[in-house]
Amino acid sequence: MNALIPGCLPHNLYFFRKLLQPSITDNIQMHGLCSECGAYLCKFTGQLITYTCSECGSILNCKDIIKKGSTFLMYPIDQQLKILLEKVGIGNRMQSPAKTDCINDISGGSEYKKLSINFPASLSLTCNTDGIPAFTSSNSSLWPIYFIINELPLRLRHVHMMLAALWVGPSKPRMDSFFTPIVECLERVHDHGVTWINCGREITTKVYMTLVSCDSVARPLLQNMKQFNGEYGCGFCLNSGCVVAKGQGYSRSYAHSVAGLPEERNHAQMLQHAETALQSGSVEFGIKGPSILSLVPKFDVVRGFVPEYMHSVLLGVVRQFAFLWFDSTSNDKPYYLGRRIIQIDTALLATKPPSNIKRLPRSILSRKYWKASEWRNFLLFYSPIFLRSLLPKDYFRHWILLVYSIFQLMIIPVTMSSISSAELALHKFVQMVQQLYGIEHVTYNVHLLTHLAASVERWGPLWSHSAFFFEDANGKLLKYFHGSRGITDQIFRSFIGASHLLRLSTIYIENSSAVLLDQIVNIATFCKNCLRVGSNVVCLGYSTKRPISACELAAISQLLNCSLSTGDVTEYQRAVICGTLLHTLNYSQSTRRRDCYFVSKKNQAYVLLTCILLEIDTGSDRSVAHEDLRKFVLLAHPIHETQIRSFDSDVNENLSYHIKKAVIDCDTVVALNASDFERKLFIVSDHSKNLFSIPIPTFELD
Ligand SMILES: [Zn+2]
Ligand SMILES: [Zn+2]
Repeated sequence: MNALIPGCLPHNLYFFRKLLQPSITDNIQMHGLCSECGAYLCKFTGQLITYTCSECGSILNCKDIIKKGSTFLMYPIDQQLKILLEKVGIGNRMQSPAKTDCINDISGGSEYKKLSINFPASLSLTCNTDGIPAFTSSNSSLWPIYFIINELPLRLRHVHMMLAALWVGPSKPRMDSFFTPIVECLERVHDHGVTWINCGREITTKVYMTLVSCDSVARPLLQNMKQFNGEYGCGFCLNSGCVVAKGQGYSRSYAHSVAGLPEERNHAQMLQHAETALQSGSVEFGIKGPSILSLVPKFDVVRGFVPEYMHSVLLGVVRQFAFLWFDSTSNDKPYYLGRRIIQIDTALLATKPPSNIKRLPRSILSRKYWKASEWRNFLLFYSPIFLRSLLPKDYFRHWILLVYSIFQLMIIPVTMSSISSAELALHKFVQMVQQLYGIEHVTYNVHLLTHLAASVERWGPLWSHSAFFFEDANGKLLKYFHGSRGITDQIFRSFIGASHLLRLSTIYIENSSAVLLDQIVNIATFCKNCLRVGSNVVCLGYSTKRPISACELAAISQLLNCSLSTGDVTEYQRAVICGTLLHTLNYSQSTRRRDCYFVSKKNQAYVLLTCILLEIDTGSDRSVAHEDLRKFVLLAHPIHETQIRSFDSDVNENLSYHIKKAVIDCDTVVALNASDFERKLFIVSDHSKNLFSIPIPTFELD
């Protein structure tokens, strides 16, 4: 930063840390739990006081509590929100819900709409907590509590994520204790709002916590109920489950009884069960007692949770079935694919995804190490193509029910009808697991699929509230984990410090010269080999001059509706159109990516051949501005697509409607304007070199 803007930041790390200290230190609080029973004690003030635990009666002094590691740090969210709103200026980026009946983001969900959130009068938060094992000898795990602001655009939700609290220890904290000061804070920001100054005007914004997105380990802890392996272990319905033999032991299966679907849980009933459990001292329909989150204003202790698809579907169901197909333990089963791994790998490893899919495919043999995003790519793009001719027909038709549903719950627009067909397909998928694979494979993750469509209707598409955001932050937390002394403090400060950097950078860059700022943000002057053409096109790399061919000339003349003279044209291999990177087919072949396939506004698929920059000769007419004399044209082969049919009579839909067989028409060259470009396309080649096109839904961070 100093190289760009001299003097904008202190010269060394010591002074830099010092600069960060006041804003962080002033706001960080330490809270103590009883080291005997885990009950919440109080906020530490720095004085040596003796405390008496109200639950177990132990007498403790704060030195011992700190020594035993029974503390956690908290940075109240009202103070963080004030900084984000006042200093970082996120208020300008807040979105109001789009006026559409589609559920295209969290703000389209029915539960979200009930709260009538309207910034700056109000805003809403999604909360996450999860246990992260620290990969050191210390045997510790980290439990952060994060919040994201739902009204920010998807990308910024992640950038402005708030770390509200952090516990580090050999055991997990008692959730009711860990959340006690957080819930107090949530009550405060709901009742009194956050007061902040915008251009000299005081504004009060009410804050709601609407949603908690976490995995099936943290969720029952927060709902104060049994985990999925216990009786009535589903937090969404009253399916009791049954114990069945599995492998060497037993496990709980959530197969549906013949009597029909189990009753859904609801907020009032959950409170009732908690009350009964409290009075009787026993577990009532899986509920052990009241959830601490039932104290959060307007929060629904059933609908305020989601099955969270990254854990339950990608790392749950998709991984479960892939392991069933490929593991040698299934070698006598009709669905066993262990002998086909080499064949699948050959096609898989030859696949070159477009650059918006971050990870390149890895071998099936290393599936143990696949990340959630790799399972997502396997589900949506690879499995429907590569398994089509390998899995027995019934098994493949069954799998496609899942591929179809998850795609439907991710691709925009998400409509009520796409949600209801996904729901039908998911129920059928779950029902058939028992017939095709056996009752022991109707796991809790499989059962959670029956609650997935409802969660999208309530809270928007799967990606709008998935745990991908938080997993990324968890990775960063682990990076800050250096030693064993004062770990919590160290990680917490580093994480908060990094987010403060953003605030500092906005302050310093604002105070610097406008020219320098322009150089940083304006890619056109910052990057040497690029040329901006109009507002939405940037050509990248070196250009070449070459004579235009007859068929290119004909295509361009047709597009521009004028006759052009032959001669040299300027050609580019790469361009950024409306923020999307495109390569020509030729250039793509030298990379590990295929960024050459795209769809036009008229929904026609193409493969990009070249980007041409024309100087248009207007004769003696000098009134035309210089920019209008340059014309950017894309030349491409059209791709003919034919829909694949996997019609399912129960869902009453073609489950492969989005997957098309693709044939490139190499004899035709078409010219297109940059404004005709709509989005990129993923083309996958199967074992017999047939091409298939699949649209790419919105993704969270990989
Ligand atoms: Zn105690
Ligand atoms: Zn359930």
